[in-house]
Amino acid sequence: MSDHDEKIETEVLDGLGLANQIRAELAEEIEALVAEGHRAPCLAVVLVGDDPASRSYIKGKQRACSRIGMQSIEHLLPGDTSEPKLLELIDQLNRDDDIDGILVQLPLPDGISAARVAEAVSPEKDADALHPNTSGQLLAGTATLISCTPLGVMAALNHHEIPLEGANAVVIGRSNIVGKPVSLLLQQSNATVTMCHSRSRDLSEICRQADILVAATGRPRMVKADWIKPGAAVIDVGVTEVDGKLVGDVDFEAAMGRARLITPSRRGIGPLTITMLLRNTLRAYRDRKHV
Ligand code: NDP
Repeated sequence: MSDHDEKIETEVLDGLGLANQIRAELAEEIEALVAEGHRAPCLAVVLVGDDPASRSYIKGKQRACSRIGMQSIEHLLPGDTSEPKLLELIDQLNRDDDIDGILVQLPLPDGISAARVAEAVSPEKDADALHPNTSGQLLAGTATLISCTPLGVMAALNHHEIPLEGANAVVIGRSNIVGKPVSLLLQQSNATVTMCHSRSRDLSEICRQADILVAATGRPRMVKADWIKPGAAVIDVGVTEVDGKLVGDVDFEAAMGRARLITPSRRGIGPLTITMLLRNTLRAYRDRKHV
């Protein structure tokens, strides 16, 4: 029997269940802080324009805040807001002692530089961990605020007790938001990491070597069954809408019976990403207030 004939029991990540578990821990922390007489942490959410998907994302984030006893303040700016106007608001939020985390929902309208906006957010309140200082700290291994999706990926791997030390980890994607930070976190956990991208040669062959495979490309069902090493942990970060359905980067059905762990595109890494935004806001609050 060849290795791929072997039937493997595949665990499917319950991202929502794990997210709720972590959120309950965060809620307890906040409850204890409030009981000690501190105010609850507060996240400022900024949306420019009225993109329905972005609106629904920020609503979800605010709901998640209120469920754990965290405050959130919404700033809805019209789609024709200029970059200086947005930077002015960010400056005001940076200086507001009652704001602990700042999230500017992406994508931003044309004419506003996402890089300049990321740099404008105070590193102390960088809940989305997009400031270059925050990325630098991650590189140096000293970061306390860490990109939300990569933190979610690590939480999923840890929850399923996937061995990281010495493991071959392959990350497909090299974005600043997912691919690069997740590669660094895996490397800091002593995995041997290969970061792939659209110019990588022999991608399927590289993936077949992976004990841990993280796909973050936005290319629906790009990872086929025979790209997956039997028994690998497969983390599918990608989400793309295809014919009204959310589809991941991995052919989910094909991974069943082959991977040891697979994450679904719904209720997979998504709820963990939002949870880590809450985690970062609480962390930013504690660090700034020394509590
Ligand atoms: P980007 O578009 O910024 O990056 C995509 C990366 O994938 C790039 O590095 C690109 O390579 C690489 N890539 C694209 N096509 C291929 C290919 N055919 N072969 C190999 N590599 C390829 O996306 P993000 O990192 O922001 O997001 C990736 C996916 O994750 C998206 O589907 C996004 O929606 C999803 N996402 C999900 C989140 C969640 O909470 N579940 C949160 C964040 C993102 P190159 O650099 O060469 O162009």
